[in-house]
Amino acid sequence: MIIPFFILHHGCPNRCIFCNVHKIAGNNPESLTEQSFRETIHKYLSNTKRNTAHTQIAFYGGNFTGMEKEHQVKLLKFAHSYIQNGQVDDIRISTRPDAIDNEGLELLKRFGVSTVEIGAQSFVDEVLRRSHRGHSSSDVVHAMNMLKERGFKTGIHIMLGLPGDDRSGYEYSVRKTIALKPDMVRIHPTIVFQDTVLAELFVKGAYIPLSMSEALDMCTYALEKFSEAQIPVIRLGLQTNREMENPGSIVAGPYHPAFRSLVEESIFFTMASSMLTEEASTGKEIIFSLAQKDVSAFRGQRKKNLQRLKDTHRLAGITVKTDQTQEEGAVFMTVEGRTWKVRKFGTPERYA
Ligand code: SF4
Repeated sequence: MIIPFFILHHGCPNRCIFCNVHKIAGNNPESLTEQSFRETIHKYLSNTKRNTAHTQIAFYGGNFTGMEKEHQVKLLKFAHSYIQNGQVDDIRISTRPDAIDNEGLELLKRFGVSTVEIGAQSFVDEVLRRSHRGHSSSDVVHAMNMLKERGFKTGIHIMLGLPGDDRSGYEYSVRKTIALKPDMVRIHPTIVFQDTVLAELFVKGAYIPLSMSEALDMCTYALEKFSEAQIPVIRLGLQTNREMENPGSIVAGPYHPAFRSLVEESIFFTMASSMLTEEASTGKEIIFSLAQKDVSAFRGQRKKNLQRLKDTHRLAGITVKTDQTQEEGAVFMTVEGRTWKVRKFGTPERYA
């Protein structure tokens, strides 16, 4: 269980052109008091059985290690008291790569921070410059090396669709991220939020966001690469909140409240299509079998995937069966007694 706190823009030396942290973080207070901190912890802890969950306090948003040291110590002390009394296991923070130094890392270690997530966003320096990030890709490499030397778990955040980026730049960023071997990754498509420089550029026609289908395709590529490298993608798309859903908050861009589900659906569509093209399936009844957990992504929202498969391959009908014993992420297809199997990002194999 993660108990999240948002520090908003605290510690940010500049404003990145895409960032409206108030929309991303939702309705969070400008500054965290000890009372509001303890109330939130209490709310989370009272709803959880301590024995069953690894419990972590997280400071998200802003730039934790870029804040004044006194402010960092104040928040770390609040959190550390729950580690000392055994109610919380450890702490996670997110920060910028250029705000990491030896002294700061010693402080984090002392107060029980186990995980540091770095906002890299891109490894193309021109993209970072145009996004007004204020750091370079070499800062990310340096920060990751320091964190690993000191035994922190690490996470890297990357974005797609930033100004000046393109498919090859994004693929380069994915490869560079993998080379740094983080313990986890978060991927966010660039969304144009109200009250940002990016929104002004969009209105002037100087920035064109990715379409939804481009974003889905690029995220599918990234998921495949990170899956091959055995690096978990712990978030794909922004976590939705009420602020974000307010009319006008999102000006443009590939936003969907269940973005990851859309990516998963598109992966299952490709898997099923790859098997159907191995057979002369036109006009036939097809049976797909898969693990219970995968059924809704396979069907798609409002059964869109099934309809698309039926139309694209001109099938007579589709039956979806669930199998308790079947491995997750694999799809079996039976047509006229012949069975095929495909795993996520794999190629179809004749099974029986
Ligand atoms: S460093 Fe992060 S929180 Fe700060 S302005 Fe940039 S994106 Fe927003």
